[in-house]
Amino acid sequence: MAPVAISHRGVVASSQRQVGRAGYLPLERKCQILRMSITFEILGSPGRDNALLVRVDSGQSVTRLLFDCGDGCLNTVSFAEILATDHLFLSHLHMDHVGGFDYLFRCLFNRDTRPNHIWGPIGTTEIIHHRFQGFLWNLHAGMSGTWLVHDVSHTDVSTSRFELCEAFAIKHDEGTSERNAQLVDLGTCTVDVHVMNHGTPSLAYVVREKARSNVDTSQLAVLGLRPGPWLKQLKDNADRSDDVVIDGVPHSMATLRESLVTETPGDSIAYLTDFILDEAAVSYLSKTLQNCGTVVCEAQYRNADRELALRNFHMTTGPVAELARQSDINRLVLFHLSDRYTSKEWSEMLAEARAIFPNTAFPEAWHIESIGEQGGQPERLAIR
Ligand SMILES: [Zn+2]
Ligand SMILES: [Zn+2]
Repeated sequence: MAPVAISHRGVVASSQRQVGRAGYLPLERKCQILRMSITFEILGSPGRDNALLVRVDSGQSVTRLLFDCGDGCLNTVSFAEILATDHLFLSHLHMDHVGGFDYLFRCLFNRDTRPNHIWGPIGTTEIIHHRFQGFLWNLHAGMSGTWLVHDVSHTDVSTSRFELCEAFAIKHDEGTSERNAQLVDLGTCTVDVHVMNHGTPSLAYVVREKARSNVDTSQLAVLGLRPGPWLKQLKDNADRSDDVVIDGVPHSMATLRESLVTETPGDSIAYLTDFILDEAAVSYLSKTLQNCGTVVCEAQYRNADRELALRNFHMTTGPVAELARQSDINRLVLFHLSDRYTSKEWSEMLAEARAIFPNTAFPEAWHIESIGEQGGQPERLAIR
């Protein structure tokens, strides 16, 4: 009956998907990842616009979160998966991070099964409202779709609502609330936000899966108990003081939990892009990213181009890897590379990072490493 399925089915299924992606990792890292239920895809190509799609699989449901929405980034994502995307989180509104928004909007503009949420720094509402109104609306009568756009500042979150049935003409003020590090609780996971400096505010995000409770069914026989619906009650942690009657005998829930329930810490993934990673930023972020599972981080410039990186409020590989080292994360994935470099130079940037934090990689599908090892080409990589 239910208990084994409740405890493990989702975790095993998502773990199987992770094995392929974690192929380059040492065994102990693979073992850590096998317990995880967050999967992710870097969207877009090296040297082009990128985005991140995160799936949090609870076993009962999958939450899909999209981070940024550059041009062409959704080309490889199925329509069904776009339709199932729960939230769009924008780091900032530069063209390379929002250029693909029209396609997302075309897929979701009339989704009325749930509200559409967009989060971004101050100014997001104004820019997204222009995007909403960048089309002719004269056949919208009878259609519905609600969009909630959240402007996130250092201190507040201001929310505005737009309705398809109004042709997105009216900006409804839904109020302002105090902002904490934890931006939103989505049930199976939370999303933290940090406002960074890109010459303009740029938001860094951390998705944290909630701890999972698992029932050790192998202990049932030892305790002389038969499985039943009470196992779900036990796992869900409803009320620690309650007793439960099993086969006519009352048992203390607290005692049963102690004997049967184990808590597995949740996985986590951070999305960091487009801000200065100076000493102060490394120091600040390394505290908040301690033991993070995966950090997906911009690597726009090589170390030799540090001055250029600072001028453009971007990062170089060295400080990125140093942040990973100080944060004691599991793995670092580099993306959002400058197209000023050849693929061989990208490989050299990876080597720069690995010298500081060995468990660093580009997205596997990019195949940059093998191209670089062949001597590198002066031309750009083909778009894949
Ligand atoms: Zn960018
Ligand atoms: Zn930017």
